[in-house]
Amino acid sequence: MSRHNWKIDTKCIQEGWVPGNGEPRVLPIIQSTTFKYDSAQTLGSLFDLEVAGDFYTRLSNPTTGAVEAKIAALEGGVGALLTSAGQAAALIAVLNIAHKNDHIISASSIYGGTYNLFNKTLREMGIDVTFVDIDSPEDELNAAFKPNTKLVFGESLSNPSLRVLDIEKFARISHSHGVPLIVDNTFPTPINCRPIEYGADIVIHSTSKYLDGHATALGGVIVDSGRFDWSASDKFPGLNTPDETYHGLVYTEQFGNAAYITKCRTHLMRDIGASPSPMNSFLLSQGIDTLHLRMERHCSNAQKLAEYLETDKNVLWVNYPGLKSSKYFKLAQKYLSHGSSGVISFSVKGGRQAASRFMENLKLAAIVVHVADLRTSVLHPASTTHRQMNDEQLKSAGISPDLIRFSVGIEHPDDIIEDVRQALASL
Ligand SMILES: *Cc1c(COP(=O)(O)O)cnc(C)c1O
Repeated sequence: MSRHNWKIDTKCIQEGWVPGNGEPRVLPIIQSTTFKYDSAQTLGSLFDLEVAGDFYTRLSNPTTGAVEAKIAALEGGVGALLTSAGQAAALIAVLNIAHKNDHIISASSIYGGTYNLFNKTLREMGIDVTFVDIDSPEDELNAAFKPNTKLVFGESLSNPSLRVLDIEKFARISHSHGVPLIVDNTFPTPINCRPIEYGADIVIHSTSKYLDGHATALGGVIVDSGRFDWSASDKFPGLNTPDETYHGLVYTEQFGNAAYITKCRTHLMRDIGASPSPMNSFLLSQGIDTLHLRMERHCSNAQKLAEYLETDKNVLWVNYPGLKSSKYFKLAQKYLSHGSSGVISFSVKGGRQAASRFMENLKLAAIVVHVADLRTSVLHPASTTHRQMNDEQLKSAGISPDLIRFSVGIEHPDDIIEDVRQALASL
């Protein structure tokens, strides 16, 4: 049986580092900035991208490379690039194909950090952004496109509003305008959703969340499906005209269907330097080894807690795509049939003050900014991760001022439910 046909659980463990005879069974940490070559000529050809090989850890490293191969296999892509944080993955994924005087379209319901990156930093760089409601009618979505639009961006399951993106529809619309769809798949992880199977062209993650899973290492990743035809139009000159910094190399000619991901590395990672440390790549690999087991437990725990919350009289509303009452239940059945994630949002009676009291009453769940790791945690986005947004922006991101984001861990479900029950009872 070829590796390609392995179930995703097997791939979590076996893909990436494949030891040869007498080599370490476990991925080694190659903690070295640089690599030795016997001739200046070999090093020169590496620099010119004529031959592949590691020479400086900013560009590539064997430990990091093994984890890139693992994630590419999990998502079904032709290649991947690890970054120092999820933010860097989003930035590089966009800058690889959008420049000054270009335009991008993004879902309005996205992570607060990505919203700031697009709405402030990209605008300052001269890249125009249109935010769209993912549930808008198709003609409204089509109307957002301009001649200089270079990409469409959305989250498969949005943080923290838990909206489910209709990936097939967004891919179809993006492709009809000749641009790729980039999907941030952080919350479902490739265990619960593989956007490339539904037509997404590029997938990114904050690996700081479930992929690492232990809240030990920040990181991000970009995965290239290898399916988008960059040469079909003149929209992407960076990929199909000569790059003078590499003696006139043309990415689509030299690297074929890995053109996009190669340019992310050899152009943007070279220039920006947001690369992960080998140690963090190792920690990420350790996390992914058990991703399939952890996601199953996150989802079953979250389903149980969401069902409990629906019965508690102190709870105003509960939003979890696995609940029949969810507006996104049907889409979740299609795209997230094994479960969505461990994240639930809800609100308690009594508004913001009651929300704070509820959070302070919790004994097991901790108030932390982080989300999506194995310890149960809770957060109030309107006063933390999304505090830069005004009320209108919050509304379009799908966040009400009273929304509580609850990240269900992999402790025993009875203990998590009991903690929430007592915190609600003492309101
Ligand atoms: C956390 C997060 C990010 C940003 O990732 P960092 O690793 O914190 O830089 C991007 N997208 C989503 C959906 C996230 O949850």
